[in-house]
Amino acid sequence: MKYIFVTGGVVSSLGKGLAAASLGTILERRGLKVTLQKLDPYLNVDPGTMSPFQHGEVYVLSDGAETDLDLGHYERFTHCVLSRENNLTSGQVYETVLMKERRGDYLGKTVQVIPHITDEIKNRIRSVGANSGADILITEIGGTTGDIEGLPFLEAIRQFILEVGPDNAIIMHVTLVPFIKAAGELKTKPTQQSIAKLREIGLQPQVIICRTEMPLDQDVRQKLSMFCNVPLDAVIEAGDVEHSIYEAPLNLREEGLDTIVCRLLRLETPDPDLTEWKRFVQRLIHPKKRVRVAIVGKYVELQDAYKSIYESLAHAGAAQDCAIDIVQVDAEDIEVEGAEKYLQGVAGILVPGGFGERGVEGKIKAAKFARESRTPFLGLCLGMQVASIEFARNACGLENANSTEFDPDTAYPVISMMEEQLDVTDKGASMRLGTWETKIREGTLAHQVYGKNHASERHRHRYEFNQKYREQMEAAGFVISGTSPDGTLVELIELKNHPWFLACQYHPEFQSKPNHPHPLFKAFIAASLANED
Ligand code: GLN
Repeated sequence: MKYIFVTGGVVSSLGKGLAAASLGTILERRGLKVTLQKLDPYLNVDPGTMSPFQHGEVYVLSDGAETDLDLGHYERFTHCVLSRENNLTSGQVYETVLMKERRGDYLGKTVQVIPHITDEIKNRIRSVGANSGADILITEIGGTTGDIEGLPFLEAIRQFILEVGPDNAIIMHVTLVPFIKAAGELKTKPTQQSIAKLREIGLQPQVIICRTEMPLDQDVRQKLSMFCNVPLDAVIEAGDVEHSIYEAPLNLREEGLDTIVCRLLRLETPDPDLTEWKRFVQRLIHPKKRVRVAIVGKYVELQDAYKSIYESLAHAGAAQDCAIDIVQVDAEDIEVEGAEKYLQGVAGILVPGGFGERGVEGKIKAAKFARESRTPFLGLCLGMQVASIEFARNACGLENANSTEFDPDTAYPVISMMEEQLDVTDKGASMRLGTWETKIREGTLAHQVYGKNHASERHRHRYEFNQKYREQMEAAGFVISGTSPDGTLVELIELKNHPWFLACQYHPEFQSKPNHPHPLFKAFIAASLANED
């Protein structure tokens, strides 16, 4: 087993996750089996309860773990299937150590950061490596060097590398090389200082990935090499990608990142075959058509809140040589000014998942607009719930129908809390989470889209469609096209008298890949394209 640790310096938001994932892409194309892991220094036990404003999207794994969105990059960029083991936070480490202490496992010893916390971190790195059956584990450490809370992780890595030896573990440091306009120069000092910070705690990176807006000339490379104590060819330039994040593996390959990594880790493999990846990128950046799709949400101004949805749309578009022009619509604006103003003229409407009352009435109006104007509609999770509420209110006359999440006293609770959720008081990791089977009814749009009568999809919800209203709504043209295998939970809904209106209780966006777009997104884009013409 070989280990690559990815650290970050100078500032956050340099794209460490993307660099780690991209290295994974290239190494896989060299025939190696790769898995990835993220260590997050914050104290939350998982990101599940963190606001999208703080943390972007919560990415859900097949086993139901609620994780950092970087794990989404890892799964999209490689073939690895991750589990809750692959995202470790300080909160989890302390939780485990304190549980052991309470149980008496430490036999009365003083419990300390070194060795107890660092041992727990090392155990987790080892067990992910061992359980994955991979050749290489890429471990990204969240935060920036110099952060107090990151220190136990870095110390654990120091010990770990000492234990497995330098041929088996390396550090790749992602750093910023800023261009100072007034001086007309790229500056290497921040990188030198961030590496010095690592050296202070006994870590020496073997590779540095330099995020830069300007090409690194030979002088700058030499300076970085000398001051940072890495070979010249281990100074890797990483400029901003021109069109798409999917270019990153191609650019890093061009810089020889995989060559140096394989040399350091003594891995002998053929050169990578990135043909398919290149083909995907070409389709993505040279579209022949365009389509305008609205996303009606409440975090539209945040880049990261709907990350997996944006990526899924890009995958679906590329497969059809089509660029997606995303129109971001704030659901609260629709509440004030009506749906027409914002949605008139878009070719498709997507309502994503969400929690809490803010903006919900706007999303309901968006579903109404899609139904009445016969615009293709894709509802995801809360998107399915608002489509159901809308239909109950406006097509079945159930006045003020609602979800009990937003109106606990509604006369018509068409969406209500799942039975097993009624006694749940903890907010963390307590929803219906992870992969569950859906049975798809033949003769429905969903069946046509999937081309089969079952699907495995990832979930994250507490509320569900209330089957008490099923008959009444079906009589009015509402179709329940998918349920849990025992028929109790509604998973897919659609509308009879509409060209393309489909919504699901789950999150298909967590399973779309560059060369394997998810069928729901693909069909939604195809329908939107047809509507655009
Ligand atoms: N808030 C809704 C629920 O808990 C929808 C959740 C979601 O969209 N992920 O059921």
